[in-house]
Amino acid sequence: MTYRFACTLVLILCGLALVACEPAEPSRQSGSPSASTSGPNSSGHETAGASTKATTTNAGETGRNTIEADLVLTGGNLIDGAGGAVLEDAEIAIKDGRILAVGRAAGLDVAEGSRTLDVSGKTILPGFINTHVHSRYVTLDETKTWTREGVTTVRDLGGYLDDMVTRKRDSEASGDPNLPRLLVSGPMISVPGGHPFPIYGDDYPALAVRGPDDARDQVNELLDAGVDHIKIAVSGRSDTGWPELSDEEIQAITGVAHARGARVAVHVDTAAGLRRAVENGVDDAAHSPRDPIPNDLIAEMVERNVALSPTIDVYQNLAEENGTAAEWNAATLPVMQDNLRRFAEAGGTLALGDDFGNPGVELGMPMDEIQQWSNAGLSPRQIITAATRDAAKVSGLGDEIGTVERGKAADLLVVDGNPLSDLRALEGVELVVHGGEVAFSR
Ligand SMILES: [Zn+2]
Repeated sequence: MTYRFACTLVLILCGLALVACEPAEPSRQSGSPSASTSGPNSSGHETAGASTKATTTNAGETGRNTIEADLVLTGGNLIDGAGGAVLEDAEIAIKDGRILAVGRAAGLDVAEGSRTLDVSGKTILPGFINTHVHSRYVTLDETKTWTREGVTTVRDLGGYLDDMVTRKRDSEASGDPNLPRLLVSGPMISVPGGHPFPIYGDDYPALAVRGPDDARDQVNELLDAGVDHIKIAVSGRSDTGWPELSDEEIQAITGVAHARGARVAVHVDTAAGLRRAVENGVDDAAHSPRDPIPNDLIAEMVERNVALSPTIDVYQNLAEENGTAAEWNAATLPVMQDNLRRFAEAGGTLALGDDFGNPGVELGMPMDEIQQWSNAGLSPRQIITAATRDAAKVSGLGDEIGTVERGKAADLLVVDGNPLSDLRALEGVELVVHGGEVAFSR
């Protein structure tokens, strides 16, 4: 049997078996101690049973499918990012940059010669996604800090068009697994005199549109140039009465973006601005308003599947920088926390992002923003899902990354300890796999 044919056969069998085998809650009693540090698992285990991987259904007489992998992680506790139960003693087989199989270490039959890393006692997660950064404040080389700390994808929400598109192309052309996957928007779209011009002036990477036709033209130009998504501003920074995109302009932008398969993120500061953005078709709010989001608007966001990325920490940093921290802590922080809590309780889609590039926001794992969400009362599981599966959806890559599932890109993070009981475990990154390659190993 040729190698190619064998791989194809294995894939087909895995696929058939997965269709037949509902990924049920893993049973705990079958957690046989898999101490394998290299090579295949010992023979003699039945493959049927508690796992999401290939089982005996279509495996013929032997009941086993030998998996030829480039890389295998074995023995860790898997948080799959989709909110399911932890799969203990998990094994993940990776081939050609993708996840080939996921299951219990005792169940997968990995071919001899596959490179195997024993991660027993550690926790495996999908690579994290930061859905709101401004990467222009660091060199491309410096963005490796994100990858090294487990953030394998960053979504840039505003930069100079040529700079961003070039950076993305350079990053992809390098094939360097140490660089995070980069998604870019180019300049933020606003109106003359609207946010961000009064704060940053005309040199800031933003576009002013004049009417719906102009808005459509400018969005088309951005997409033609190669951006992944569109960022707009509706309301500024506090209710200053600055001009804003009209309903017709927002509709024009979201209409042309959606027709071309691109999502639209919105900078908002007020609930009124958020409402206009939501009702005119945006896909996610890149900040929380500083005033309460009415419950009916939250319900509408849930119904329209408009995500929220509150970026609480950057506002705290700005308040500290402006000398208004005491007021902010007393008046605004509780409102933003309550917005986040009520949105989560209503079943809204949350995406973790920290607005890197602004004062005080650190490169790497966004622990400060994670801590803000935890302070607001969100569970570690909610936060992790917002940083993985749901961040992937918001980034337009829900089919590609964000969960540990067969067929997805092999972007994985291994940490010491259990982040479901203590989120600080996310600071103890031991191993990062990006695109199937080891990008960092402690
Ligand atoms: Zn931003």
